[in-house]
This record gives sequence, structure tokens and C-alpha cells, in this order.
Amino acid sequence: MSKRVIVVGGGAAGMTAALAVANAGGKVTLITSAIGGGSSPWAQGGVAAAVGPDDSPDQHFLDTLACGAGLVDEAAARVLTEEAPARIADLLAAGVPFDREPDGSLALGLEGGHHRRRIIHAGGGATGWHIVRSLANVVLATPDISVLEGPSVTAIRTHAGRATGVELVWPDGIDGVLEGPVVLATGGCAGLYGRSTNPGTVNGGGIGLAWQAGAALADLEFVQFHPTALDLPAADMGHKALLLTEALRGEGGQLLDSRGRRFLAEGPLAHPLAELAPRDIVARAIHYARQDGPVYLSLRHVDPDHIRARFPNLVALLKPLGLDLATDLLPVAPAAHYVMGGVWSDLHGATTVPGLYVAGEVACTGVHGANRLASNSLLECLVFGRRAGLAALEGVQPDGFDDMLNRGVALEADPPLPADEGVSGAALGEILDHNLGVIRDEAGIVEALARLAEDGNGVVARRIALGAWLRRESRGAHFRVDYPEPVEAWRGRIIQQRGQPPHFAPVRAAVAAGERA
Ligand SMILES: Cc1cc2nc3c(=O)[nH]c(=O)nc-3n(C[C@H](O)[C@H](O)[C@H](O)COP(=O)(O)OP(=O)(O)OC[C@H]3O[C@@H](n4cnc5c(N)ncnc54)[C@H](O)[C@@H]3O)c2cc1C
Repeated sequence: MSKRVIVVGGGAAGMTAALAVANAGGKVTLITSAIGGGSSPWAQGGVAAAVGPDDSPDQHFLDTLACGAGLVDEAAARVLTEEAPARIADLLAAGVPFDREPDGSLALGLEGGHHRRRIIHAGGGATGWHIVRSLANVVLATPDISVLEGPSVTAIRTHAGRATGVELVWPDGIDGVLEGPVVLATGGCAGLYGRSTNPGTVNGGGIGLAWQAGAALADLEFVQFHPTALDLPAADMGHKALLLTEALRGEGGQLLDSRGRRFLAEGPLAHPLAELAPRDIVARAIHYARQDGPVYLSLRHVDPDHIRARFPNLVALLKPLGLDLATDLLPVAPAAHYVMGGVWSDLHGATTVPGLYVAGEVACTGVHGANRLASNSLLECLVFGRRAGLAALEGVQPDGFDDMLNRGVALEADPPLPADEGVSGAALGEILDHNLGVIRDEAGIVEALARLAEDGNGVVARRIALGAWLRRESRGAHFRVDYPEPVEAWRGRIIQQRGQPPHFAPVRAAVAAGERA
């Protein structure tokens, strides 16, 4: 009888893992509170892959490294960029209707930090929705994949330090247990923030499950803030914060301050890549420019017919708000968007708990370093989703964690203040927005640590805060006004594990030696 793997999560990573197991001859139980219940269907811009005639995986690798501010795991970035074209071929075989040029070739967009056009997209800016729909069609038609849609996984079962299965509960309260190796693909935690582009369901629940099971977490202080989320009161939008995809800037969109100046092209906030600088830089520039008044994204100088044809879904989303994508000045501000950190994993999704594998945004292979390159996260779901599924089927053991720890040192264990009774929901989102946002400092982080409890969503929020408190430098998406520069001695990863002091581990020697980043 072939082996059965449990996959938790019905987004791009979970469905990719499930299909990899089934294609390799295994059986799968895919448990998900909802197919497409997380971030995947909301992804707009696209998937990065070096498929253009002027491009190469090597160039994509270098862009990934440069964006990650010295913390990218070089081996993971190699895997990501070299396997990308094959995973795009898988999606084409699954029926994803990627947009094409008139000559039939794939249409390639441009986004911040990329030096080539390599963003493959569908439905204009509806890439995630098309990927989820196509993958779901194949998953539901695959006899070796049993889909349980509705239940939530509430615990990962362990025995003698190994993951042995999961506990789950259905919406009507009926619970159950399933046994087998587990691939966790439950998404990230940026939806914990009050101002976030993620659905509120993306609240780090899976990261918390892995923590409770004893798995090591890494890099949680690195939360990416998308520079251009619509800056209108949430009640007006029906969304927490509506994303205006980076691809709009790739098509020529300009950022204007309240005096109509392109502040990324000229003046003290300017950058050589202007609006297409890496996300952390653009987000900080917008933050500072907004101190003098609203900041706008403008496409007024681009052919309106081109914009309307390229981004039909955004045109439709903005229309009820009385905004015209092509001709109006669109008020924008940063919003929490993505977490680079997560459950530590090796190149095959194996965590420090044997039998537990992770893939997608819940995982932290180190591939994004301190700042993710745009459109590398759907790609991560595809590349590492497949790897994690196969590893779970074959029972691959975790590799490299002990070596990494041995290179490092233990850090101060105690946060500066004891946690009080804790906050949840909106209050938790507010604390994260105000104290752990684009700009951080000691006082704000300490205040957050004092207010966030070690329970529920507070567990993951506290891991973000503790990492931010420990990391006394600025690097990538983590910016502290009290330590505004990167510090070479901090060029490594903060590992957090339940019941143990946090640990600092330098990045692999290959990356530390390479000055390409
Ligand atoms: C607005 C927006 C735009 C984006 N645009 C892009 C883009 O253009 N390109 C790009 O590369 N990335 C983009 N991203 C990021 C990217 O979409 C995500 O990183 C990626 O989709 C994460 O996929 P995932 O499969 O890891 O998790 P998710 O898609 O979040 O899926 C998680 C799944 O797990 C299920 N689940 C969670 N917890 C449990 C539980 N306890 N029990 C059972 N089921 C559970 C959920 O129901 C869901 O099905 C964007 C994100 C957002 C929010």
C-alpha cells in the first residue's frame, strides 16, 4: 500500500505539495479550512521565472540576493531560481491561462528589484486567482488526493520528538485525528496587522502550531510592508487594505508627494531605481514623504487603454470607490504584506521536528533573506511545495540545523518586561501597526512585548516583537531608527524555539563571503 501524506493548507503551496505526492505514487489527505482561503487567490502581480530570451536563472538569483540585504540563503535561492521555469511549465500543464503577447509567447512584466522582465501573470492582475482555480481543478480530479475542506487543524501530534499526525476540528465541533507525515502549508501571518493586504485569516495559526510542536522558527522580525496599498478608510473598501500591485509601477506608475514631486526620482529620498527600488526602500520613502501630506500613485502619463486592458480586475475593484485606475491620483501608504520568516526548514521543507515539513509562506528556508523580491513568493510555493511533498513521502530527515546552531551563539533570553494579560483581535493589530511597522524603535518594541501575551495569536506576534527587539540593526524590511544601519555582526538569523533561549546563527559561509548581495 502506498504511503499517505497529510497536507494542511489549500493555497498554492499546499496544492502543489499534494500534486507532487500524488504524481510520485503516494496518497494524500489535503486538509484545509478553505481552498484558496489564504493569500494565494489575492496575488496580483504574478510569478517570477527566468524564461525571457535575455534572462537566466543566474540573473534571477543575483536579483534575489541583492534584494535580501545580505541574509539570503544562497543554496535556497539557487534552487528557487533554477527550478522556476520547470514549475511554470507545470502550471501551464495544469491549465493556468497566463497572459500572452500577440506572437503567443508569455507576456513578461517588470517589478521592483528585477533587472529583467520576468513576471508571468494571468488575467492582468489576477494571477493568484487563476493559479488557485487551475490547481484546485486538478487536485479535485486526482483520485489519490482526498480533500477535507472545512476543518481546521488545531494541533500537530508528536511522539518522542517526531510529528505523527494532526488533530482537527470541523466547523460543527466534530473533531478527529489523522496519522502520517505532515506538510504544513498554512500561509503567513501578515494578516495579524491592522493595516494589511492579507485576509484576516492569514494570522500565523500554522506557525503557532509548529511552535507548539517544538519546531524552530527563524527571521520573524522581517515583515515586508507593501509600499502601495490604497490609503482609504477600510470601511470604504471592504478590505483591510487594497493592494495596488507593484506591476503598476512596472508599467510606468509614478509616486508623487503632496506637492506633485517624484520623490523617488529626485531629492533626499531618491533611489537609482526610482519607483522600482526594492520594497523596503520604497515603503520607507513613502512613510517619510507622507509626513508632509498624502502620497499618490499616478498612471496619468501612461496610455489609459493599455492600463485598463492590462489590469481589468483593479479597474473593477476601484470603480465602486469612485476611482479610475488610469486617470485618478490614487492615495497610497504601506501595509503589512508578507513575512520572510516562519518555520525554519531545509531545502526539502524538513523542519527541526522529524516528520513535519513546511512549504510556502509558513516556511523559512532563508530564500528571501531580510526582504523578499517581488513575485518570488508564489514561486516559492511552487518550488518548495513540490520539494516538501516529495520529502514527506520519502521521509527525508532535516539537514543543516545543528551545524547552523553550532556556528552561532545564544542570545538574551528574557524580553525586557513580563507580558501582561494580553490583547487580541483589533488591539493586537493596532500594536503591530504602531510598534512593529515600517519604522521601529526600542521603546515601541518594548511596549509591544509588554502587551502581547504568550497565547493564541499573541504567540506569533510576540515572536515578531522579540526578534525585532533582539536585532539591534537595520536590515531589509527591519528598520530601527535607534540602529539605522546594517551591522556586519548581525548578518545572520535569529532562531526562536519554545523552551529555549533565542539563538543567533550567521548566514552560511558561501553567502557571507559573497559580496554580490
Ligand atoms: C494582496 C496580495 C497580493 C500578492 N501578490 C503576490 C504576487 O503578485 N506574487 C507573489 O509571488 N506573491 C504575492 N503575494 C504573496 C503570496 O500570495 C503568498 O505568499 C502565497 O500565496 C502564500 O501561499 P501559501 O500557499 O503559502 O498560503 P495561503 O495561500 O495563505 O494558504 C493557506 C491555506 O491554509 C489554510 N489553513 C490555514 N490554517 C489552517 C488550519 N489551521 N487548518 C486548516 N487549514 C488551514 C487556509 O485556509 C488556506 O487554504 C500576495 C499576497 C497578497 C495578500
